[in-house]
Amino acid sequence: MFPTRSFIYFPNNILEYIRNNIMAFGSDRQMYDVDLTCAKCGAHISQLPFQPSGDRPVYCSDCNRAFRKDRPATDRGGRSGGFSNAPRQMYSVNLSCASCNQQITELPFQPTGDKPVYCRDCMQARRNG
Ligand SMILES: [Zn+2]
Ligand SMILES: [Zn+2]
Repeated sequence: MFPTRSFIYFPNNILEYIRNNIMAFGSDRQMYDVDLTCAKCGAHISQLPFQPSGDRPVYCSDCNRAFRKDRPATDRGGRSGGFSNAPRQMYSVNLSCASCNQQITELPFQPTGDKPVYCRDCMQARRNG
């Protein structure tokens, strides 16, 4: 007989561990003790929900909240209609389709070089199955 019981027991433990950690993360985030001043209002900051890297300004929770509120809601867009017709940024490339060998001069993304690139027709054909 193989000791299969221990193999079952092990992942059970891991699941419990993960669940405990997720619960801890959701209800009570880990805070780092710091001794910094807010880059905007100069308020003293004694705790942060992340470890400060040192090369970015740190803001107190009030300024953080205000900063988010002040940001324009870009995804609401004031223009009426036609947002789907907005031209996407295209990258100039000089490649050939990995499927039909057609020349490709523009791509809606920057090719990484380690994945095959397909022309629009072949891309659509692949997406449709
Ligand atoms: Zn502040
Ligand atoms: Zn093609």
